[in-house]
Amino acid sequence: MSDLVRNYIGGAWVEAQSGDTFTTINPATEEVIANVARSSAADVDAAVSAAKQAYNNWRLTPAPRRGEILYRAAQIMTERKEALSQLMTQEMGKVISEARGDVQEAIDMAYFMGGEGRRMHGYTAPVELPNKFGMAIRDSVGVVGLITPWNFPIAVPSWKMLPALICGNSVIWKPSEDTPAVSAAFVQVFVDAGLPAGVLNLVLGAGDTGAALVKNPQVRVISFTGSTATGLGVYAQAAALGKKVSLEMGGKNAILVMDDANLELATQAITWSAFGTTGQRCTATSRLIVQKGIKPRLTEALIEKGRALKVGYGLQEEVQVGPLVNAKALDKVSSYAQIGAQEGARALIGGGRDTDQPRGFFFQPTLYDSVTPNMRIAQEEIFGPVLSIIEVASLEEAIEVNNNVAYGLSSSIFTENVNAAFRAIRDLTTGIVYINHGTTGAEIQFPFGGTRGTGNGMREAGQTALDSFSEWKSVYVDYSGRLQRAQIDTDAILGAN
Ligand code: ADP
Repeated sequence: MSDLVRNYIGGAWVEAQSGDTFTTINPATEEVIANVARSSAADVDAAVSAAKQAYNNWRLTPAPRRGEILYRAAQIMTERKEALSQLMTQEMGKVISEARGDVQEAIDMAYFMGGEGRRMHGYTAPVELPNKFGMAIRDSVGVVGLITPWNFPIAVPSWKMLPALICGNSVIWKPSEDTPAVSAAFVQVFVDAGLPAGVLNLVLGAGDTGAALVKNPQVRVISFTGSTATGLGVYAQAAALGKKVSLEMGGKNAILVMDDANLELATQAITWSAFGTTGQRCTATSRLIVQKGIKPRLTEALIEKGRALKVGYGLQEEVQVGPLVNAKALDKVSSYAQIGAQEGARALIGGGRDTDQPRGFFFQPTLYDSVTPNMRIAQEEIFGPVLSIIEVASLEEAIEVNNNVAYGLSSSIFTENVNAAFRAIRDLTTGIVYINHGTTGAEIQFPFGGTRGTGNGMREAGQTALDSFSEWKSVYVDYSGRLQRAQIDTDAILGAN
């Protein structure tokens, strides 16, 4: 077992004030891999004080200089990519190639947000009076709180932390209790890149630690990614204190396959969208909505591909599907297998725990046929390698089935018909739409987020990410230098109002 994984507060690695700890285990081997500080509200308060103290200097640091620190962080992450990836696989189970992709996303985001240090565009517009100038600029908010899940332990935090930092805020980050070690390694990157003490603080712990962050009135923004139930609770708490909140929650994503689709492309994309990251992506496909004509051939191809997947410990390069993150996740996914069977779904492959593995929380890649749109397995987020096949007659029916769920993150359509593709772009009510591509591979320069139960209208990534972490300030400059001018202004304002 490694040394204690500590909090990072005010520029120092520190134990929890209570001295409490918890352990984490490798989901593939069930070995204990880390002993971790368990933070209470007192630790959160200490982090908030440190962040408040650091805020003023950081906000006054010119944004291009802030950007240079992010560029350095990107370089360091590039050098440490393999070590970070291996730690991630050990801690949460995703296969090593996917862990590398996770780190790469943070590298890309660091360069992108570093560049925002020289953009961060505001605007000017004409004003009503002579000798007067008007502009709108982005301003920092203050101390912001980030609460993140385990499924993308570096990428998702980077979507929040990097825009928060470039906007001039100081940050308190509460990562998932399932990925503390890789989170500490990620923070170390910023320490080594020269981020001033107190600008980024790490508090480790479980839900109660996150709740303390949400309740602290000095934390003005909460950016949360996680389950819908937790997210809505966070939203209510934060709203009562008047905080700005960005939420990224559940999904029930689908791929639509029309009769004219390219079968090979669709098979490949569906397999990786459903079973990649063991189905534990926010954007994982859990519903295949397929037109009647192509269904038999597509189902056959998916069975063949699904059976050939190599399940195992993700540090082995040839492994394609790793374990679920923990025992609780295995219980939850297993319970959906029972629900599916009771509802009348038929397992074509899989359908239960993978007992071929000697240890670990493995669930077999699972394909269910005979699923109808209102079954629970077709409506609720399972977050495991489980794909439900729903047969439809037409494009219109496919779109209706796609849209008729409580979530709206991503959807995809496979068709060779340009008219069908554009209708789908228009009518699919998700925040992300793919054409002839799986529901994975969102790029960091575009907004990421979803409709309905997936979010609250905010978006991560792209320039839209700045909206969560900045305030607009409108500035009017009167350069007439004359009392008469001011008098006219006053008259105009009085007249206008
Ligand atoms: P999951 O465990 O399925 O990823 P959660 O929504 O429970 O989903 O967890 C996402 C993040 O929210 C984690 O960092 C977790 O510790 C944190 N969290 C859990 N409960 C709360 C809460 N009541 N208040 C704030 N954060 C919480």
